[in-house]
Amino acid sequence: MPGAEFPYFPKSPILEMLKPDWEMVRSHREAECIQFRNLKLDQVQRLCEIGFPNLRSLNLRFLRAPDLQVLRWFPSVRQLEVWQSNKVTSLSGLEHLPHLNWLLLSELGPLPTLEPIRICAKLESFALTGGIWKPQKLEESFAPIATLRRLRHLMLWGLRGPSDLGPLLDFPALEYLHLPPAPFPLEEVARVAARYPFYAAARPWLVEFEQDMEGCSRCGSKRTLLFLMRKRRFWCKHCDAAKLQRILNEFEALVESYRQ
Ligand SMILES: [Zn+2]
Repeated sequence: MPGAEFPYFPKSPILEMLKPDWEMVRSHREAECIQFRNLKLDQVQRLCEIGFPNLRSLNLRFLRAPDLQVLRWFPSVRQLEVWQSNKVTSLSGLEHLPHLNWLLLSELGPLPTLEPIRICAKLESFALTGGIWKPQKLEESFAPIATLRRLRHLMLWGLRGPSDLGPLLDFPALEYLHLPPAPFPLEEVARVAARYPFYAAARPWLVEFEQDMEGCSRCGSKRTLLFLMRKRRFWCKHCDAAKLQRILNEFEALVESYRQ
């Protein structure tokens, strides 16, 4: 479905919890969405007493905890974002939110496994990403993602770890996939492209370099970026046209071989 997008988190009040103003925190008790910054485990009891009965969207930045057990106190949450929280090295705690339908995890500490997301069978949107400068490390495979049968939006980028994309090949309702192909073996990317025609049609491996200040050394025109493993990154679509086309044709043939 061209034009499908990853739905983003609603604009929320930001509550700084380093030295919280509890009156101010309390004034948000009816909020449907909140971002807590620097939330600590020992503050959660007090938050719980305040209540937050309407809270549906919870955004945690700089979470000061080794896992996601704080979620135990937010059972009404359906949308969760945890980001820039390098103390978090375990997704344990997700089991408290089996009705979650939207989950974004970004720039956490190194994660040994994604196993805990298996419980979130109602997830329709899932993102796991690094930051611009820092990859998100993941030790084990993408296999737990395969159990999310209702996924419509999936975003995986800036990751260091698994290269097997097999677990991503069987989402019947998937309509948006952001998966930059460069870190993955060609065969893996080709399998994904063969499975999801909208991904193949968008050709995420070929990107116009709009900000190219340098340009092609021969003709000066803006270059094209090719994001395929072990292929040259910069191409001129005039000077290198034939060679670039040959590589693209080879890759298309590989995709085609997985369609059959
Ligand atoms: Zn050129």
